[in-house]
Amino acid sequence: MTLINPTDSMNPYESVNYYFDKAAEHLDLENGYPRMLKNTYREIRVSVTVRRDNGDLDDFLGFRVHHNGARGPYKGGIRFHPEVNMDEVRALASLMTWKCAIVKIPFGGAKGGVCCDPSTLSERELEQISRNYIRKVDLVIGPLRDIPAPDVNTNAKVMAWMSDEYGKRHGYMPACITGKPIAIGGSQGREAATGRGVSYVAIQAAKRSGIKLQGARVVVQGFGNVGSYAAKFLHELGCKVIAISDISGGYHNAGGIDIPKAWTYVRENKNMKGFDGADAVSNDQLLEMECDILVPAALGHVITSKNADRIKAKLIVEGANGPVTPAADLILEKKGIPVIPDILANAGGVTVSYFEWAQNMQHFNWEEEKVNEELKKILDKAFHQVADNATAHKVSMRTSAFMLAIDEVARVSKLRGV
Ligand code: GLU
Repeated sequence: MTLINPTDSMNPYESVNYYFDKAAEHLDLENGYPRMLKNTYREIRVSVTVRRDNGDLDDFLGFRVHHNGARGPYKGGIRFHPEVNMDEVRALASLMTWKCAIVKIPFGGAKGGVCCDPSTLSERELEQISRNYIRKVDLVIGPLRDIPAPDVNTNAKVMAWMSDEYGKRHGYMPACITGKPIAIGGSQGREAATGRGVSYVAIQAAKRSGIKLQGARVVVQGFGNVGSYAAKFLHELGCKVIAISDISGGYHNAGGIDIPKAWTYVRENKNMKGFDGADAVSNDQLLEMECDILVPAALGHVITSKNADRIKAKLIVEGANGPVTPAADLILEKKGIPVIPDILANAGGVTVSYFEWAQNMQHFNWEEEKVNEELKKILDKAFHQVADNATAHKVSMRTSAFMLAIDEVARVSKLRGV
């Protein structure tokens, strides 16, 4: 099979499948396997009906996609965003399959989403959407079937409504959803896990790239759950976080942003608007800034063929899912900028989701120290496997990660008799 020329206009699902094909070239997959492994297993589209605060009845499109369940129950977050569509959810579900395989946790890949703009919804309306969505996908989720979790614009509070709704039909079953508040079965360390994982992976990647973390200039695009924790941990490791951004814009301070101050500011003001510890910059300026480590931690497809050539970072660690388009990925590869791919770099979230699920199944709680220690062990091991394989095959970290993940899922599918 000849690899197509990647373009920025590829949709997210085509992008993931391009990365798949690129990696599959190095593997000896049986005929039919590539198609089977790229395809989604099950796709559900639902109508989420909500009575708005003004009395009107509204419908929002909801999705749940099961990509591959060879390695265990389907697993993946639910996002609330106005750009959610079937292709994006398919792509994100596929990424979950490869992500779980890379860190060797016993799950397959899934994803869900509701096409809505949470900033225009009241708390009551959000709760209605969350509960109604769960009622609509109730038949295909469950602790041994498919376990949702938070993603863009969803959090522990949303997971609490969702697990409560699931429990109404099935009885007390905290393992049906992860990322819950600790008081109702959530795990210590889960909220911080994705950002913490990004920092663990960045430590290893910096070492391999010869970047000294002490004083390293870091740019974090996105200051939500992933970006704010990644910035916090990298700051604590001695890095100088020189720029951050969120929906209100970009903020730059060459001397280093006071991250604890920015943290408190965002939690008090919802976003960074009005933060006075830095100068305003545009999103484009932020991505193209001279720095040691760039962490895109917001949405997909922000580094494209239009700006990839101007990226000056020495290392990119993907906190978000799919922030680099395949066309940009090729440019970065040619420029020699290592990219630590999403399926490895942000796998900390689903890894601690696995710990949460395992604790729920045993009705037993772990200390935060144990959570973080186990997380580090898993991510360090996965990082070195991907890096060693990349060196051995002279491929990028992304191609290497996909190679290992695809190989693992193909092996398990064979064992199951496919
Ligand atoms: N939404 C997160 C991700 O993309 C976490 C998924 C989970 O914990 O299941 O990895």
